[in-house]
Amino acid sequence: MSWRRFVPALVRHRGRAISFTDKIAQRARIRPEHAGFVALHEHAHILFREHRVTFATELEEETCADYFAACALAPRAAVRAFARSCGRDPEALAAYVGATEIWAHLRFAEVFGESLAVVGPSMVWARGDFVGVHESTLRECARSPSTEVRVLPVGRARVISLR
Ligand SMILES: [Zn+2]
Repeated sequence: MSWRRFVPALVRHRGRAISFTDKIAQRARIRPEHAGFVALHEHAHILFREHRVTFATELEEETCADYFAACALAPRAAVRAFARSCGRDPEALAAYVGATEIWAHLRFAEVFGESLAVVGPSMVWARGDFVGVHESTLRECARSPSTEVRVLPVGRARVISLR
């Protein structure tokens, strides 16, 4: 097994990173558009531990680690400036930041306070009014757009937004 990158952090992450007490390592085959976000996500877990931040559930901690990583990768002011000069193009933001297009859709929704969900083959992410909506409901929305939601295919995922 070869390791490409060592940065301070902890914890496991969906099989893409391996735990040590104060380091994370990413597999050499991690896709470049995932590497930065995953390293920052794992770093968030280290910071939570070092500062004794506790969470009610593992999901809450993972959500906060995702949010920390998104903010570190693309701060709100920078995303707003990007949108002013380049438009709200998720593909362009993803390329600029070195992240995935799905991540860029979610980050625009966070920054602009919009409701959006991404339904992937194995994961569902929600922002705004979609937070707390059951995964099965979001998967149903992704299959059958309505007058209330629009569905945009992005790779193997579906991005759902309110009309
Ligand atoms: Zn995590």
